[in-house]
Amino acid sequence: MSSFTTITDFINYKNKCIFCQNNLSITLSNFSLEDLYLFPSIYTKYNNYKFEFHFSYNSIFENIDTFISIDSKSNQLMYDIIDNERRVLNILEQSARPHIELSCFNDQCKTKYTIATKPIRFENSYVYNLGRQVWNLKPLQLRSETAEIDNIYIYNDLVKSETKIFPKKPYINPIKFDFLNLSSYPKNQLIHKIKTQIIFS
Ligand SMILES: [Zn+2]
Repeated sequence: MSSFTTITDFINYKNKCIFCQNNLSITLSNFSLEDLYLFPSIYTKYNNYKFEFHFSYNSIFENIDTFISIDSKSNQLMYDIIDNERRVLNILEQSARPHIELSCFNDQCKTKYTIATKPIRFENSYVYNLGRQVWNLKPLQLRSETAEIDNIYIYNDLVKSETKIFPKKPYINPIKFDFLNLSSYPKNQLIHKIKTQIIFS
């Protein structure tokens, strides 16, 4: 499955780490290990069925400062500036590009196992919900699955169905593999398989 109609569908897709079975944390952010969109910076944890955050954007043309709430039950975004049409969302989609991640933060696990969506997108026009202008999210698309095991960073590109391996020590260039389904192997077999492939690549 690579597309999810709602945020809830995505969250329910995988709620436990495939390596340690701990619950995955749910965040919305515009940066991660793999791509650094540092401006404007967003990092918010999923709480009470919502992602909520202050969003500010300043340029010579405009200053935007608003509170944004994304509700997973309705799958809608609401913000507290009215009459600016779609401007805030255009900036969110084009500059901030936040995406949703499900991540393992278990210190004992150490894999930082993470599944990430592509940046979230919205429908072009608002609808009304309880008298407020709200914007429906477009279906979420899967982007990547990542994990760190034994000083090796594994990047599964879920769009292209390919795997890249970034060995940290000794440093060598990323190695591209056929798609490696991380869920199919116990951790020790996975690392053995990867190391064998690194030697023969
Ligand atoms: Zn884990």
